[in-house]
Amino acid sequence: MENVVCYNCGSASRTAFAQENDFSLTKCSECGLLYVNPRPNTEEIEQAHKLGQHRGAELIQTTGYYDFSKVSSYTQTLKEMFGDGSVLKGKRWLDIGCGYGEFLEALNKFSANGVIARGVEPNVKKAAMARKNGLNVDYFDLSGHREKYDYISMLNVYSHLPDPPAIIGEWKKLLMPGGRLILETGDTSDLTSELHPKPFYLPDHLSFASEKIVTNILQRAGFDILGVYKYAEVRETPMAIFREALKALIPGKRSKLWRLIKGDLKQIDMYVHARLK
Ligand SMILES: [Zn+2]
Repeated sequence: MENVVCYNCGSASRTAFAQENDFSLTKCSECGLLYVNPRPNTEEIEQAHKLGQHRGAELIQTTGYYDFSKVSSYTQTLKEMFGDGSVLKGKRWLDIGCGYGEFLEALNKFSANGVIARGVEPNVKKAAMARKNGLNVDYFDLSGHREKYDYISMLNVYSHLPDPPAIIGEWKKLLMPGGRLILETGDTSDLTSELHPKPFYLPDHLSFASEKIVTNILQRAGFDILGVYKYAEVRETPMAIFREALKALIPGKRSKLWRLIKGDLKQIDMYVHARLK
């Protein structure tokens, strides 16, 4: 375990926010970032991401399942960002932490295979499944990677990173000049601990940020913000609603169906579209 300070503003001043799985989530007194402290050391985190297992009071399995509803949500976002998608033709795209490849699948479909897309995924089971589905996915060390891309996406990756500003500083070297980054994460650090989505999945998730924190980090890293898109925790797509309905039928699963029907879901799923200067 190691003690850390706020990666956004450098402050060590913090207050207790929540406890889960024998880990403490603390709130930075200066910028409001929520982060786990103390946290597993970097080697433990890397190993956990390869195996999809995090140890705490309980062993958390994070390998999960291929989520068919994500493909429709991603397609909706791609349409809002890129219209008919013609600007993407022939572009090289790297999806970092691509999981089972739901986003790559949406991207290939959306662009009618016009994008040269590949994914990198540390979880061996997820990467194998994505390859089985015909996607160009493997695992390689990004710090030694020499290829350049027009687009990089990191979806549901941010909260898992020990030090997002440092790693974004590394990964931007993989972008061509003027290249774009699509970063998806929650906009939740301004919520109270009562209203924050739970479970937190500590220590698989190491921090929770806000629109202000993420856009500031990207601007400091040399990006212009082109747009911020926010969605409810569950999209109103038929597939997403179907998935929540299925979860409502399975004992022990948390379904957001009722809150979806009541219109009670918060717009906390955030996509930031940024361009490297
Ligand atoms: Zn801070």
